[in-house]
Amino acid sequence: MNPVAFIEAKRDGHAHSREELEAFLSAYLRGEIPDYQVSAWLMAVFWRGMTPEETTALTQVMADSGHRLDLSAYPHPVDKHSSGGVGDKTTLVVTPILAACGCTVAKMSGRGLAHTGGTIDKLESVPGWSGDLSEERFHELARTVGLVIAAQSKDLAPLDGKLYALRDVTATVDSLPLIASSIMSKKLAAGARTIVLDVKVGAGAFMKTLDDARRLAQTMIAIGKGAGRQVRAVLSSMERPLGHAVGHAVEVREAIATLRGEGAEDLRELALALAAEVLEAEGKDPARAREALESGAALAKFREFLQAQGGDAQVVEEPERLELAPEVWELKAPHDGAVAAVDALEVGLGVLALGGGRVKKGEAIDLGVGAWLAKKPGDRVREGEVLARLHHRGKGLEEAAERLGRAYRLAAEAPNPPLILDVLRG
Ligand code: URA
Repeated sequence: MNPVAFIEAKRDGHAHSREELEAFLSAYLRGEIPDYQVSAWLMAVFWRGMTPEETTALTQVMADSGHRLDLSAYPHPVDKHSSGGVGDKTTLVVTPILAACGCTVAKMSGRGLAHTGGTIDKLESVPGWSGDLSEERFHELARTVGLVIAAQSKDLAPLDGKLYALRDVTATVDSLPLIASSIMSKKLAAGARTIVLDVKVGAGAFMKTLDDARRLAQTMIAIGKGAGRQVRAVLSSMERPLGHAVGHAVEVREAIATLRGEGAEDLRELALALAAEVLEAEGKDPARAREALESGAALAKFREFLQAQGGDAQVVEEPERLELAPEVWELKAPHDGAVAAVDALEVGLGVLALGGGRVKKGEAIDLGVGAWLAKKPGDRVREGEVLARLHHRGKGLEEAAERLGRAYRLAAEAPNPPLILDVLRG
């Protein structure tokens, strides 16, 4: 394997064979090819793209870089994944709903990517919680709890773990083949029969237009179908952040509130829609999703899940145990009006500036910083009323405050635009 010739081939727009991808990427996994050569290749993929056959081959190479799990012995093995958003804590709500409805949710999640947050980082704000699980423990929790969330490890999609961390800091995240292969390799390795994808569209998403989001969804559905899985995709708006909270501890607090029936309407609507798609595909009554949320069964399952993975389950009763950065900065409405827009990208970059995201590989992040968007699109406001708050420790405050100010747009009248834009059922 000549890595330079391989990079050149993609730079010049050629397609790789599965064998070539396997040779290059397995050498990277063994530590024989350095990050700088893989970074150059990722950038070439970003510009040149990949054929559908290449994307499928890349997904298979990534899924086979660790073990592929067999969940077929468990009742209703299902999975959910988002293409990445701002304030997107949906996994924390959907997965306990599904587990409370008798599904087995055994999933692999990622960390933050660029300006978007990752489920593993969010859950690590719960004292003691860990997503570093051996394959044996993953199976045990799937069997006993019915809900388990793991980070990529040496056993499970390790190649995605390495590429994901590198893409995060080399401006190579928002590439359709790289996103599709990253998501679907985790889904194929984790072994679920039914998968629901939340494909985000808009300013804060990696896919900015509905057409691009549809292409991403169709690519992932085709890969899943080719591997014998049922895949559905909900296309949802990421023009504005989801819910009120953006950050880590603050988002887990909001997810708990939603599981208690107190959360933001958009988060609840999306979580129920995603759960209903899975239940229907599995031949269950989709109305059970709402029942699991309203009865408190999903909240009880979330508690059990946190505890099983070493987390302080008391956070469910006392969310203030999830520590927020102590200093608070407030954005106030400059005049009366209605909130016409809250730009999700600006909010995501603002939280990143506070230390809530990585700009270098493997960097520690601050799980206590974040934003609370008190006012959302469609809300009426009076001059001087608080639009949003930043929880911070001083670092990056100037940039974050400026971005938050730019994110909010007030108008005389403002409707609340739709959240769910389309549903594709493969
Ligand atoms: N989620 C993933 O797992 N990978 C991506 O590339 C984007 C979102």
